[in-house]
Amino acid sequence: MTVIGTVRPIAAVCADAELTGCGVCGAGPHIPCAFASGPAGSDGPGYHMARFAAARRAGLISEADMAAVIEAAGVFTAATVIWACAR
Ligand SMILES: [Zn+2]
Repeated sequence: MTVIGTVRPIAAVCADAELTGCGVCGAGPHIPCAFASGPAGSDGPGYHMARFAAARRAGLISEADMAAVIEAAGVFTAATVIWACAR
């Protein structure tokens, strides 16, 4: 595996992605795409994968950040909700 850059906590990546709006569900900045139970009984905000892509395009998150999100997602589409920031 190639190390692309500094790895940040996924919570920091989610916080920066939250600065964008979401093209999938229409959630505005600072509003998570969903609140629900994530995998393994975790709870917290979820964000559509498309939102991380928008944040990457806007320069809000790095290539390494995006790689961490993709790794957390596994198999995904633009409409997959990423629960990596859920606790
Ligand atoms: Zn969304």
